[in-house]
Amino acid sequence: MLGSILPFDEEQVDRVSEYCEKRSLPITDNLADHWEWTRTRFPDADKMSSCLQGSWMIFTARDRKPKRILEIGCFSGYSALAWYEGTKDTKAEIVTLEYSRKMIAASREAFAKYGVEDRIKLVEGPAEKTLPTLTGEFDLIFVDANKDGYANYVKTILDQKLLSPNGIILCDNVFARGLSIGPDCAPWLNDHVRPYWLSCGQALDEFNTNLMKDERVDVLLLPLFDGVTQIRWRDQVKA
Ligand code: SAM
Repeated sequence: MLGSILPFDEEQVDRVSEYCEKRSLPITDNLADHWEWTRTRFPDADKMSSCLQGSWMIFTARDRKPKRILEIGCFSGYSALAWYEGTKDTKAEIVTLEYSRKMIAASREAFAKYGVEDRIKLVEGPAEKTLPTLTGEFDLIFVDANKDGYANYVKTILDQKLLSPNGIILCDNVFARGLSIGPDCAPWLNDHVRPYWLSCGQALDEFNTNLMKDERVDVLLLPLFDGVTQIRWRDQVKA
């Protein structure tokens, strides 16, 4: 077997997720409560990251020790809370962008409830407008909002040097449930959500393909979760 991805079937995939979850650093009780609160309160709760992704965020933040984190796409605040947990030692500032009135209210409620407003700053409005107004550098940038905006967001981040010299951009869902790779790649996806993910797949395939041509950066697309792209500044080779 020379490929990178194991051919698990639908039922096995759930078992694999659970297997990994139970053998990874656990999310905190607060995060678990918030995940459950979001799941039961919002019909589109599948926009929220999974519990295993929460563990991945905490691990990644502890490992990289960012001083500033930027997140595009807050939803109910679950990932911002995970970044907060992962940066308890470094006391990183976390800036998260969101435009939905409903999700802004939900996140603000959660941030107040868990007492994390000292380090999490929620910037309200469409990210295409708020992102260009940000200043300074971020060491970890999580791109997780509208999929047809990824190309523009990453371009703005790079053009405005919002990414610190050793920083990393993590773009979530670049597989678009598999549909970036081909319309036949997600036979299990129901007809209700398929048109949405098909259009995301088209936008993300374009993003994934064009990003490779940007000579400023190194790009690594990993078959992790629903596809995660890592982006870093390319090292300058000295003459
Ligand atoms: N990061 C969250 C997590 O891990 O739980 C999930 C984010 S969810 C996938 C995407 C969020 O981006 C939604 O809450 C949506 O309202 C928001 N969003 C979509 N388009 C946006 C835009 N143009 N500007 C700001 N937020 C946007």
